[in-house]
Amino acid sequence: MSPRILTYGRLSDAQLAELREQFHVDAFDGPGDAERPEFREALGKAHALIGAGLNITSEMLDAAPDLTVIASISVGVDNYPVEELTRRGILLCNTPDVLTETTADTGFALIMASARRVVELAEYVKKGDWQAGIGAAQFGTDVHGKTLGMVGFGRIGQAVARRGALGFGMKILYANASPKPEIEKELGARRCELDELLQSADFVCTIVPLTADTRHLIGARELGLMRESAIFINIARGQVVDEAALIEALQEGRIRGAGLDVFDKEPLPADSPLPHMANVVALPHIGSATHETRNAMAQRAVDNVKRTLNGERPISPINAEVLSRRFT
Ligand code: NAP
Repeated sequence: MSPRILTYGRLSDAQLAELREQFHVDAFDGPGDAERPEFREALGKAHALIGAGLNITSEMLDAAPDLTVIASISVGVDNYPVEELTRRGILLCNTPDVLTETTADTGFALIMASARRVVELAEYVKKGDWQAGIGAAQFGTDVHGKTLGMVGFGRIGQAVARRGALGFGMKILYANASPKPEIEKELGARRCELDELLQSADFVCTIVPLTADTRHLIGARELGLMRESAIFINIARGQVVDEAALIEALQEGRIRGAGLDVFDKEPLPADSPLPHMANVVALPHIGSATHETRNAMAQRAVDNVKRTLNGERPISPINAEVLSRRFT
Protein backbone atom coordinates (compact mmCIF):
# COMPACT_ATOMS: atom_id res chain seq x y z
CA MET A 1 0.00 0.00 0.00
CA SER A 2 1.45 3.40 -0.94
CA PRO A 3 2.10 5.96 1.81
CA ARG A 4 -0.63 8.55 2.39
CA ILE A 5 -0.09 12.30 2.33
CA LEU A 6 -2.52 14.84 3.76
CA THR A 7 -2.18 18.30 2.21
CA TYR A 8 -3.96 21.45 3.35
CA GLY A 9 -3.61 24.15 0.72
CA ARG A 10 -0.97 26.01 -1.28
CA LEU A 11 -0.06 23.11 -3.64
CA SER A 12 -0.72 23.56 -7.37
CA ASP A 13 -2.60 20.94 -9.40
CA ALA A 14 0.74 19.97 -10.98
CA GLN A 15 2.32 19.46 -7.55
CA LEU A 16 -0.63 17.38 -6.35
CA ALA A 17 -0.38 15.31 -9.56
CA GLU A 18 3.35 14.83 -8.96
CA LEU A 19 2.64 13.45 -5.48
CA ARG A 20 -0.16 11.23 -6.79
CA GLU A 21 2.26 9.49 -9.17
CA GLN A 22 3.73 7.76 -6.13
CA PHE A 23 1.45 8.29 -3.13
CA HIS A 24 -2.16 8.42 -2.03
CA VAL A 25 -3.05 12.09 -1.48
CA ASP A 26 -5.93 13.51 0.59
CA ALA A 27 -6.03 17.17 -0.47
CA PHE A 28 -7.86 19.83 1.56
CA ASP A 29 -8.21 23.53 0.76
CA GLY A 30 -6.52 25.01 3.83
CA PRO A 31 -5.96 24.83 7.59
CA GLY A 32 -9.58 25.92 8.03
CA ASP A 33 -10.57 22.36 7.07
CA ALA A 34 -8.80 20.82 10.08
CA GLU A 35 -12.01 20.41 12.09
CA ARG A 36 -13.83 18.55 9.30
CA PRO A 37 -14.44 14.84 10.02
CA GLU A 38 -12.90 13.95 6.63
CA PHE A 39 -9.70 15.77 7.61
CA ARG A 40 -9.60 13.92 10.93
CA GLU A 41 -10.08 10.62 9.14
CA ALA A 42 -7.25 11.40 6.70
CA LEU A 43 -5.01 12.50 9.58
CA GLY A 44 -5.53 9.11 11.24
CA LYS A 45 -4.03 7.39 8.20
CA ALA A 46 -1.44 9.99 7.11
CA HIS A 47 2.29 9.28 6.83
CA ALA A 48 3.03 12.87 5.81
CA LEU A 49 1.48 16.34 6.14
CA ILE A 50 2.11 19.26 3.80
CA GLY A 51 0.74 22.73 4.46
CA ALA A 52 1.07 26.01 6.30
CA GLY A 53 -0.69 28.02 8.97
CA LEU A 54 -2.05 25.14 11.06
CA ASN A 55 -1.17 24.91 14.75
CA ILE A 56 -0.07 21.31 15.20
CA THR A 57 -1.11 20.11 18.67
CA SER A 58 -0.31 17.04 20.81
CA GLU A 59 -3.90 15.94 20.34
CA MET A 60 -3.48 16.00 16.54
CA LEU A 61 -0.26 14.01 16.83
CA ASP A 62 -2.00 11.44 19.06
CA ALA A 63 -4.60 11.11 16.30
CA ALA A 64 -1.89 10.47 13.65
CA PRO A 65 -0.09 7.26 14.70
CA ASP A 66 1.58 6.67 11.31
CA LEU A 67 2.94 10.20 10.85
CA THR A 68 6.59 10.25 9.75
CA VAL A 69 7.16 13.71 8.30
CA ILE A 70 5.60 17.19 8.28
CA ALA A 71 6.65 19.54 5.50
CA SER A 72 5.75 23.10 6.36
CA ILE A 73 5.37 25.53 3.45
CA SER A 74 7.10 28.26 5.45
CA VAL A 75 10.49 29.01 6.96
CA GLY A 76 9.04 29.92 10.39
CA VAL A 77 8.11 26.90 12.50
CA ASP A 78 6.61 28.59 15.57
CA ASN A 79 3.29 26.76 15.04
CA TYR A 80 4.87 23.31 15.50
CA PRO A 81 5.86 21.65 18.80
CA VAL A 82 9.37 20.93 17.56
CA GLU A 83 10.67 19.18 20.71
CA GLU A 84 7.63 16.97 20.90
CA LEU A 85 7.93 16.06 17.22
CA THR A 86 11.56 15.07 17.81
CA ARG A 87 10.58 13.01 20.82
CA ARG A 88 7.97 11.23 18.74
CA GLY A 89 10.48 10.65 15.92
CA ILE A 90 8.52 12.82 13.46
CA LEU A 91 10.64 14.81 11.04
CA LEU A 92 9.79 18.49 10.48
CA CYS A 93 10.97 20.26 7.31
CA ASN A 94 10.64 23.91 6.28
CA THR A 95 11.36 26.03 3.20
CA PRO A 96 14.33 28.35 3.87
CA ASP A 97 16.32 30.18 1.15
CA VAL A 98 13.66 30.12 -1.60
CA LEU A 99 11.74 32.94 0.12
CA THR A 100 14.65 35.02 1.39
CA GLU A 101 14.83 37.63 -1.39
CA THR A 102 11.05 37.98 -1.76
CA THR A 103 10.56 38.53 1.96
CA ALA A 104 13.41 41.05 1.96
CA ASP A 105 11.63 42.86 -0.90
CA THR A 106 8.53 43.07 1.30
CA GLY A 107 10.62 44.45 4.16
CA PHE A 108 12.09 47.09 1.94
CA ALA A 109 8.70 47.93 0.45
CA LEU A 110 7.52 48.64 4.01
CA ILE A 111 10.56 50.82 4.70
CA MET A 112 9.92 52.87 1.56
CA ALA A 113 6.15 53.01 1.95
CA SER A 114 6.36 54.11 5.60
CA ALA A 115 9.09 56.69 5.06
CA ARG A 116 7.52 58.26 1.99
CA ARG A 117 3.91 57.76 3.17
CA VAL A 118 3.08 55.96 -0.08
CA VAL A 119 -0.18 54.31 1.04
CA GLU A 120 -1.51 57.32 2.92
CA LEU A 121 -0.78 59.73 0.06
CA ALA A 122 -2.08 57.38 -2.65
CA GLU A 123 -5.33 57.33 -0.64
CA TYR A 124 -5.25 61.17 -0.54
CA VAL A 125 -5.10 61.26 -4.34
CA LYS A 126 -7.85 58.61 -4.67
CA LYS A 127 -10.16 60.56 -2.37
CA GLY A 128 -9.75 63.66 -4.56
CA ASP A 129 -7.96 65.63 -1.81
CA TRP A 130 -5.11 66.65 -4.14
CA GLN A 131 -6.47 70.09 -4.98
CA ALA A 132 -3.29 72.17 -4.81
CA GLY A 133 0.46 71.73 -4.66
CA ILE A 134 1.51 69.64 -1.68
CA GLY A 135 3.39 71.11 1.26
CA ALA A 136 5.16 70.10 4.45
CA ALA A 137 2.01 68.34 5.70
CA GLN A 138 2.62 65.68 3.05
CA PHE A 139 6.40 65.43 3.33
CA GLY A 140 7.99 62.17 4.31
CA THR A 141 11.49 61.31 5.47
CA ASP A 142 14.54 60.12 3.51
CA VAL A 143 15.58 56.50 3.37
CA HIS A 144 18.91 56.84 1.56
CA GLY A 145 21.88 57.56 3.74
CA LYS A 146 20.01 56.76 6.98
CA THR A 147 20.81 54.11 9.61
CA LEU A 148 19.04 50.76 9.29
CA GLY A 149 18.98 48.65 12.46
CA MET A 150 18.35 44.97 11.82
CA VAL A 151 17.07 42.96 14.78
CA GLY A 152 17.92 39.49 13.49
CA PHE A 153 20.67 39.09 10.93
CA GLY A 154 20.06 35.69 9.37
CA ARG A 155 19.16 34.98 5.77
CA ILE A 156 16.34 37.52 5.43
CA GLY A 157 17.87 40.14 7.74
CA GLN A 158 21.05 40.16 5.70
CA ALA A 159 19.07 40.40 2.45
CA VAL A 160 17.16 43.46 3.74
CA ALA A 161 20.44 45.02 4.88
CA ARG A 162 22.04 44.37 1.48
CA ARG A 163 19.24 46.33 -0.18
CA GLY A 164 19.73 49.18 2.29
CA ALA A 165 23.52 49.32 2.13
CA LEU A 166 24.09 48.71 -1.58
CA GLY A 167 20.94 50.30 -2.99
CA PHE A 168 20.38 53.20 -0.62
CA GLY A 169 23.78 53.91 0.94
CA MET A 170 22.42 53.11 4.40
CA LYS A 171 24.56 52.52 7.45
CA ILE A 172 23.79 49.06 8.89
CA LEU A 173 23.64 48.14 12.58
CA TYR A 174 22.56 44.69 13.67
CA ALA A 175 21.63 42.88 16.86
CA ASN A 176 21.86 39.14 16.46
CA ALA A 177 22.52 36.06 18.55
CA SER A 178 25.88 35.45 16.82
CA PRO A 179 28.28 37.73 14.92
CA LYS A 180 28.28 37.65 11.11
CA PRO A 181 31.82 38.79 10.17
CA GLU A 182 31.58 38.10 6.44
CA ILE A 183 28.56 40.26 5.82
CA GLU A 184 29.93 42.90 8.21
CA LYS A 185 32.80 43.22 5.75
CA GLU A 186 30.58 43.12 2.66
CA LEU A 187 28.19 45.82 3.87
CA GLY A 188 30.26 47.70 6.42
CA ALA A 189 27.70 46.52 9.00
CA ARG A 190 28.34 46.73 12.75
CA ARG A 191 27.01 44.40 15.45
CA CYS A 192 25.82 46.08 18.63
CA GLU A 193 23.56 45.52 21.62
CA LEU A 194 19.83 45.82 21.01
CA ASP A 195 19.57 48.94 23.19
CA GLU A 196 22.25 50.78 21.22
CA LEU A 197 20.59 49.79 17.95
CA LEU A 198 17.21 51.08 19.14
CA GLN A 199 18.73 54.38 20.25
CA SER A 200 20.68 54.91 17.02
CA ALA A 201 18.64 53.57 14.11
CA ASP A 202 16.32 55.59 11.87
CA PHE A 203 14.65 52.33 10.80
CA VAL A 204 14.39 49.33 13.13
CA CYS A 205 13.47 46.11 11.32
CA THR A 206 12.69 42.89 13.23
CA ILE A 207 13.32 39.56 11.49
CA VAL A 208 14.04 36.90 14.12
CA PRO A 209 12.21 33.58 14.50
CA LEU A 210 9.42 33.58 17.11
CA THR A 211 10.69 31.59 20.11
CA ALA A 212 10.35 31.81 23.90
CA ASP A 213 13.39 34.16 23.80
CA THR A 214 12.05 36.50 21.13
CA ARG A 215 8.39 36.76 22.24
CA HIS A 216 7.87 40.47 23.05
CA LEU A 217 11.55 41.14 22.35
CA ILE A 218 10.32 44.63 21.50
CA GLY A 219 8.15 45.95 24.32
CA ALA A 220 7.34 49.32 25.89
CA ARG A 221 10.90 49.74 27.23
CA GLU A 222 12.48 49.00 23.84
CA LEU A 223 10.03 51.24 21.95
CA GLY A 224 10.85 53.95 24.49
CA LEU A 225 14.50 53.78 23.47
CA MET A 226 13.73 54.47 19.81
CA ARG A 227 14.04 57.94 18.36
CA GLU A 228 10.87 59.96 17.91
CA SER A 229 11.78 60.23 14.24
CA ALA A 230 12.31 56.47 13.83
CA ILE A 231 10.17 53.97 11.93
CA PHE A 232 9.54 50.43 13.15
CA ILE A 233 9.24 47.57 10.63
CA ASN A 234 8.13 44.05 11.53
CA ILE A 235 8.32 41.24 8.97
CA ALA A 236 9.06 38.45 11.50
CA ARG A 237 6.04 37.39 13.57
CA GLY A 238 3.51 39.60 15.33
CA GLN A 239 4.33 38.30 18.78
CA VAL A 240 7.96 39.40 18.55
CA VAL A 241 6.47 42.79 19.47
CA ASP A 242 4.18 43.77 22.33
CA GLU A 243 1.44 45.04 20.00
CA ALA A 244 -0.42 47.02 22.70
CA ALA A 245 2.79 48.88 23.55
CA LEU A 246 3.45 49.52 19.85
CA ILE A 247 -0.04 50.95 19.36
CA GLU A 248 0.47 53.25 22.32
CA ALA A 249 3.86 54.47 21.05
CA LEU A 250 2.35 55.17 17.61
CA GLN A 251 -0.74 56.91 18.98
CA GLU A 252 1.33 59.12 21.25
CA GLY A 253 3.79 59.99 18.46
CA ARG A 254 6.70 58.52 20.43
CA ILE A 255 7.91 57.00 17.15
CA ARG A 256 7.21 58.29 13.63
CA GLY A 257 5.50 55.26 12.18
CA ALA A 258 5.42 51.55 11.51
CA GLY A 259 5.35 49.17 8.58
CA LEU A 260 3.86 45.84 9.62
CA ASP A 261 3.43 42.59 7.70
CA VAL A 262 2.65 40.47 10.76
CA PHE A 263 0.40 40.84 13.79
CA ASP A 264 -0.38 39.35 17.17
CA LYS A 265 -3.62 37.89 15.77
CA GLU A 266 -4.02 37.12 12.07
CA PRO A 267 -6.18 38.01 10.23
CA LEU A 268 -6.12 41.35 12.00
CA PRO A 269 -9.24 41.66 14.24
CA ALA A 270 -11.84 44.17 13.01
CA ASP A 271 -11.39 46.33 16.13
CA SER A 272 -7.62 46.76 15.70
CA PRO A 273 -6.71 50.44 15.42
CA LEU A 274 -3.58 49.67 13.39
CA PRO A 275 -4.98 49.76 9.82
CA HIS A 276 -6.76 53.05 10.57
CA MET A 277 -3.67 54.90 11.76
CA ALA A 278 -2.16 57.31 9.23
CA ASN A 279 1.38 56.50 10.37
CA VAL A 280 0.98 52.73 9.89
CA VAL A 281 1.31 50.65 6.75
CA ALA A 282 -0.36 47.30 7.48
CA LEU A 283 -0.06 44.36 5.09
CA PRO A 284 -1.85 40.98 5.30
CA HIS A 285 1.25 38.83 5.98
CA ILE A 286 2.50 38.87 2.38
CA GLY A 287 6.23 38.47 3.09
CA SER A 288 6.74 35.59 0.66
CA ALA A 289 3.51 36.00 -1.30
CA THR A 290 4.52 36.15 -4.95
CA HIS A 291 3.51 33.57 -7.56
CA GLU A 292 7.12 32.52 -8.11
CA THR A 293 8.11 32.22 -4.48
CA ARG A 294 4.96 30.53 -3.20
CA ASN A 295 5.34 27.99 -6.00
CA ALA A 296 9.00 27.41 -5.11
CA MET A 297 8.10 27.00 -1.42
CA ALA A 298 5.36 24.47 -2.22
CA GLN A 299 7.76 22.57 -4.49
CA ARG A 300 10.37 22.48 -1.71
CA ALA A 301 7.77 20.95 0.62
CA VAL A 302 6.83 18.37 -2.03
CA ASP A 303 10.51 17.51 -2.53
CA ASN A 304 11.09 17.22 1.22
CA VAL A 305 8.21 14.76 1.59
CA LYS A 306 9.04 12.74 -1.53
CA ARG A 307 12.64 12.34 -0.41
CA THR A 308 11.71 11.38 3.13
CA LEU A 309 9.09 8.83 2.13
CA ASN A 310 11.54 7.39 -0.42
CA GLY A 311 14.19 6.91 2.30
CA GLU A 312 16.40 9.79 1.13
CA ARG A 313 17.62 12.83 3.07
CA PRO A 314 15.19 15.77 2.76
CA ILE A 315 16.57 19.12 1.62
CA SER A 316 15.68 21.22 4.65
CA PRO A 317 15.01 19.36 7.90
CA ILE A 318 14.47 21.31 11.13
CA ASN A 319 14.97 18.51 13.66
CA ALA A 320 17.93 16.76 12.04
CA GLU A 321 18.23 14.72 15.22
CA VAL A 322 15.38 12.53 13.96
CA LEU A 323 17.27 12.11 10.69
CA SER A 324 20.50 11.08 12.36
CA ARG A 325 18.52 8.40 14.19
CA ARG A 326 17.28 7.18 10.82
CA PHE A 327 20.46 7.48 8.78
CA THR A 328 23.15 6.29 11.21
P1 NAP B 1 17.34 32.69 9.92
O1 NAP B 1 18.24 32.67 8.74
O2 NAP B 1 17.35 31.53 10.85
O3 NAP B 1 17.65 34.03 10.74
C1 NAP B 1 17.18 34.30 12.01
C2 NAP B 1 18.23 35.09 12.75
O4 NAP B 1 17.72 35.46 14.03
C3 NAP B 1 19.52 34.28 12.98
O5 NAP B 1 20.62 35.02 12.52
C4 NAP B 1 19.55 34.09 14.50
O6 NAP B 1 20.85 34.15 15.04
C5 NAP B 1 18.76 35.30 14.97
N1 NAP B 1 18.20 35.10 16.31
C6 NAP B 1 17.49 34.05 16.77
N2 NAP B 1 17.10 34.27 18.04
C7 NAP B 1 17.61 35.47 18.38
C8 NAP B 1 17.55 36.25 19.58
N3 NAP B 1 16.92 35.80 20.67
N4 NAP B 1 18.17 37.46 19.57
C9 NAP B 1 18.83 37.89 18.48
N5 NAP B 1 18.92 37.20 17.33
C10 NAP B 1 18.31 36.01 17.28
O7 NAP B 1 15.82 32.86 9.49
P2 NAP B 1 15.22 33.70 8.25
O8 NAP B 1 15.10 32.81 7.06
O9 NAP B 1 15.95 34.98 8.13
O10 NAP B 1 13.72 33.93 8.81
C11 NAP B 1 13.52 34.57 10.05
C12 NAP B 1 12.06 34.55 10.45
O11 NAP B 1 11.33 35.42 9.62
C13 NAP B 1 11.35 33.20 10.30
O12 NAP B 1 11.55 32.37 11.43
C14 NAP B 1 9.89 33.61 10.15
O13 NAP B 1 9.22 33.60 11.40
C15 NAP B 1 9.96 35.05 9.63
N6 NAP B 1 9.45 35.15 8.24
C16 NAP B 1 8.36 35.93 8.00
C17 NAP B 1 7.88 36.02 6.71
C18 NAP B 1 6.69 36.85 6.38
O14 NAP B 1 5.87 36.44 5.58
N7 NAP B 1 6.55 38.04 6.94
C19 NAP B 1 8.50 35.31 5.67
C20 NAP B 1 9.61 34.55 5.96
C21 NAP B 1 10.08 34.46 7.26
P3 NAP B 1 22.00 33.07 14.68
O15 NAP B 1 22.40 33.33 13.27
O16 NAP B 1 23.08 33.35 15.66
O17 NAP B 1 21.33 31.72 14.87
